[in-house]
Amino acid sequence: MQVRLLLGALIKFKVQKSKSKTYMGKVDEIYMSEALKEAKRAFAKDEVPVGAVIVYKGKIIARGYNQVESLKDPTAHAEMLAITSATSYLGNKWLSGASIYVTIEPCSMCTGALVLGRIQNLYFGAKDPKAGACGSATNIVNNKKLNHRIKVKEGILKEECSSLLKDFFKKKRNKS
Ligand SMILES: [Zn+2]
Repeated sequence: MQVRLLLGALIKFKVQKSKSKTYMGKVDEIYMSEALKEAKRAFAKDEVPVGAVIVYKGKIIARGYNQVESLKDPTAHAEMLAITSATSYLGNKWLSGASIYVTIEPCSMCTGALVLGRIQNLYFGAKDPKAGACGSATNIVNNKKLNHRIKVKEGILKEECSSLLKDFFKKKRNKS
């Protein structure tokens, strides 16, 4: 009888665990689709389509999309703009406890800024083999020499994130 009770409890625990996992997966996709909306805004303005949102205590506190061309600023990446917007919202130079959702793996500049900002979590969609600094071209998120490390989860809505980028470059090639 006791064994059966124990088994029942174990099964219940397992079911709950897997349920919460899918629930968290859904939440990730919801925020990533918000980042995708930002990327589409960049696309519409003929900018390389990358978008980001920063989430704190279950709320989107900042948004950003790539504006390198329109601002004529090589640092105007989606993540950089979102970081500045988030810190001014929080009135704090640190983003402890916050999460960023970015459509494409951040570059070394943005990853460096996220480390300096002490952000807790980084979620990205598609990898960037050429410039990604979260394991692709280089790795800044988990560098033992740096004083802060970020929890990273990749591959959220990666098909949508990368196809937007592919469409953009295809359009560019056809134009020229
Ligand atoms: Zn960047």
